[in-house]
Amino acid sequence: MTVYNFCAGPAMLPPEVMKKAQQEFLDWQSLGVSVMEISHRSAPFLAMVEECEASLRRLMNISDEFEVLFMHGGGRGQFAAVPLNLHLDGLPGVYVENGIWSGGASQEGARFTSVESINIRTDKDGLFDIQPVDKWQLPADASYIHYCPNETIDGIEIFDVPKRKNAPIVADMSSVILSREINVDDFDIIYAGAQKNIGPSGLCIVIVRKTLLTREGLPRPSILDYTIEAKQGSMYNTPPTFAWYLAAEVFKHLEAMGGVPAMAAHNKAKAAILYDYIDSSDFYSNKVAKHCRSLMNVPFWLKSDSLNELFLKQAEQAGLVALEGHRLVGGMRASIYNAMPIEGVQALVEFMDKFAKEHS
Ligand code: PMP
Repeated sequence: MTVYNFCAGPAMLPPEVMKKAQQEFLDWQSLGVSVMEISHRSAPFLAMVEECEASLRRLMNISDEFEVLFMHGGGRGQFAAVPLNLHLDGLPGVYVENGIWSGGASQEGARFTSVESINIRTDKDGLFDIQPVDKWQLPADASYIHYCPNETIDGIEIFDVPKRKNAPIVADMSSVILSREINVDDFDIIYAGAQKNIGPSGLCIVIVRKTLLTREGLPRPSILDYTIEAKQGSMYNTPPTFAWYLAAEVFKHLEAMGGVPAMAAHNKAKAAILYDYIDSSDFYSNKVAKHCRSLMNVPFWLKSDSLNELFLKQAEQAGLVALEGHRLVGGMRASIYNAMPIEGVQALVEFMDKFAKEHS
C-alpha cells in the first residue's frame, strides 16, 4: 500500500532523495564511509557544502548582498538569534502576529529585548482573517520587523511582502521556503527550519543581508552569532553534517524538477484540489479567509468532532497518515509541502468524500 504522509514537520522528503541517501548511506562518493562519518573540514564535505549553497542561491536567486548560513537549533533557535543579533538600543523588535508561530517568536524575543506586537488577525464569525499588508501599523523605527509568511498551525499564508521602512524585515519562512517564488531582495533576513521543505530537523537556513552583520546586538552565544557563523562558513562548531548533506540533495532534486516555479505550480494545483473539495462539501470546513489560505498547511474540520477519531483511524488504514490537527487548534491538518505528490492529495480527497458519504 502506498503511504502518504501529511505530517507538518518533520515532513515527508522527496522519495528520490531518500532512495539516493539510502544507496549512499554506507559509502559516500566511493570513500568507503558514510557522509556522517567524515570530517566537516575534509575536501569532499567542503565541496558538497559549497555546491549546496550555490544550488540554494540559484533556486532562490540570492544575490551577493546576502550571506547564507546553515545553523543549528531549528526555527526556534532563530527566535532567539534574531533579537540577539539585531537589537538596537532604544528601539523595539516589532512582531507582526497572526498565529501561533509569530506569537512564539514574539514571546522569545521578549526574553532579550523590548518588543512591540502588532496583531493583524481580524477573525470574525468563525472566519480566520488578517489585515492586508498595506494596513499594518508598522512603526517608522524599530530594531527589526519580524513576521511569519506561513503560519503552519493556523493555515494562514501572507502572500504580499511588507514594504521595507527604516527597519530590516525578518521573515520566518520555515513552512513556506522554496514553495513559491519570492524576491529575496524584499527581505533582510529569511530563516527556515529545515524539516518541511528542506531536510532533517535541527538544521536552519538563514539568509542574512551582509550589512546587518556589523550590528553589535546583545551578548550572545557564538553558535547564534551571525557574524561568527558567516566568517567561519557556518562551521564555528561541528555542523549537523548529515542534515546538510540531505539538504544539498533536496536542492539538487528541486533544480532537476524545474526549480521553484515548477514547485509553485505543483503546490497551487494540489492546494486547489483540496480547498475546492472542502468548499464543495457541507461535511468539512476550513476556517481561513480565501485570500490568505495556506498552500502548504490545510487545516480542516469535520462536521462533528465526535468523528475525528474514526476519521484518523480509517485514514491511516487507507495509507493517509499524520492528519491530526495541531493540539492547540484541533480538527485535522493536511500538510502538502513540495514533496507531496498530487496523487497523495487526490487519494486524500477520495477518502474524505467516501468518509463523508458514510457519515452524513
Ligand atoms: N516557525 C514555524 C513557522 C514553524 O512551523 C516551526 C515548527 N513547526 C517553527 C518555527 C519551530 O521550528 P523548530 O521546531 O525547528 O524550532
